[in-house]
Amino acid sequence: TKWNLAIDGPAGAGKSTVAKRVADQLSMVYIDTGAMYRALTWLALNKDVNIHDEAEMHHLLKESDIRLRGPEGEEGIYVNGTNVSKAIREPQVTNNVSYTAQHAAIRKEMLRKQQLLAAEGGTVMDGRDIGTAVLPNAEVKIFLTASTDERAKRRYEEEIAKGMDSDFEKLKKEIAERDKIDSERTEAPLKKASDAVELDTTELTVDEAVNKICLIAEK
Ligand code: C5P
Repeated sequence: TKWNLAIDGPAGAGKSTVAKRVADQLSMVYIDTGAMYRALTWLALNKDVNIHDEAEMHHLLKESDIRLRGPEGEEGIYVNGTNVSKAIREPQVTNNVSYTAQHAAIRKEMLRKQQLLAAEGGTVMDGRDIGTAVLPNAEVKIFLTASTDERAKRRYEEEIAKGMDSDFEKLKKEIAERDKIDSERTEAPLKKASDAVELDTTELTVDEAVNKICLIAEK
């Protein structure tokens, strides 16, 4: 496959679950760009680097090695050789990652890395600015949404299934806050590309969303 599929949308719309499945079905490679911003955020929190300081964050990114595959090519997010796949989903990272993603210098670097990953085509890339900034020429673009209540409910159910303590109202507030920062930032804000197909998954199962996207892609 020589073409790319861009999937953007707000937090918790099911992008990563759906994108991964679509990639498998179409024999393409899934690229989780949010994980790259999360990995840098995790590193900053661990090294006590001020997330709000653009120059310090840029320096940190320049000297760190963020990979979306393990040493044997297995799936996983690695920072300087450490597998952080689980750690980057922790609430502390989730609630800070949008500050990392506000910095122009960080976005510029991430965009460059992401464009390299997709240069030969064959990727399903999920994020916030893929259709608008990273791959403006992607052959297929999807903007995946769901109501805020539904997105919070899915997160809540995930956490309960993991045996965690969960608070629906708190999750809903955090999701809304992250969407606000992501859509109001100056650099490549979260926004539907004019040529993206919007898919509201509020009433859809994962299977249904995957099938719809595959149908759109195969046209
Ligand atoms: O998709 P995920 O929830 O893992 O993304 C985490 C955060 O990373 C987003 O809330 C956003 O602030 C940032 N992000 C971004 N651009 C992308 C992907 C993620 O700004 N392409």
